[in-house]
Amino acid sequence: MKNIKNTFIIFISLLLVVSCAQKITYPTSIKDSKTNVTEINTNYKRISTNDANYVRKMEELYPAWNVKLSWFNPKDAKITIAEKRNMLRKLSLVKFMINTPEFEEKVLATTMYSAVNTNGPNGNIKVGSKLDSKRIMTVLKNRNYSVAIRKQKMSGVAALGVLGKSLYCLADNVSQDTLWIAFPSVENWVNGGYLLEPYLSAIVFHEILHNTGFSHSGNYGAIYPLQNIYKSLYNDKKWKEKYKERLEDFQYYYEIKYSEVLQKDSIK
Ligand SMILES: [Zn+2]
Repeated sequence: MKNIKNTFIIFISLLLVVSCAQKITYPTSIKDSKTNVTEINTNYKRISTNDANYVRKMEELYPAWNVKLSWFNPKDAKITIAEKRNMLRKLSLVKFMINTPEFEEKVLATTMYSAVNTNGPNGNIKVGSKLDSKRIMTVLKNRNYSVAIRKQKMSGVAALGVLGKSLYCLADNVSQDTLWIAFPSVENWVNGGYLLEPYLSAIVFHEILHNTGFSHSGNYGAIYPLQNIYKSLYNDKKWKEKYKERLEDFQYYYEIKYSEVLQKDSIK
């Protein structure tokens, strides 16, 4: 009986933690902007104490996948505030997904094969080697390097991402410089077919996976299986309903954390 009572108290305490965690206040300028990303408030509020609290709270709630933003690089064309904000929202969607138990469950239940030859203290893999899903999940959770987002000329592809060191085989504390992912200079990053969700954030995820040392070739490679899990959950009505409020709260994470990049357009 005592055990039942204790269990009940723990359960109620957990409920309280979860419900408190959802009460987050935003600067008015940010909250108002969420209905339409193209309506940009150019007087974007700088980080205040509240914003810093929000970022800290979100980092506590969603500790996995600490990909940081280094800079936006207008290599071949201007990147507007609206475009930058849209990309930052996509980074938030990716981080949120990797922190959900459903994503981890699906990754652990999926068999993936390497598309690269690589080795290090955590293993020696060849093209076609079976990958350990647990190790993949550890790599994703510990991912903490910076990404630069470029706007550049390209043809025939939706995006590009430079292939980084294979974090699958290397030690978890290995260091890596900022690597870039790039999106086409001819596209407006706010409006357009492939920019709709969940497609665009799945591409952002895909390119950062290249930075992480994963690749794809024919049926080999972890990238498409991971991208498909990602898309299937964002298309899953039950999943979306379950996380509706939490996701609404979290979507501002990158834009508040990196609000300084939203002060003006990035010009070549
Ligand atoms: Zn690719």
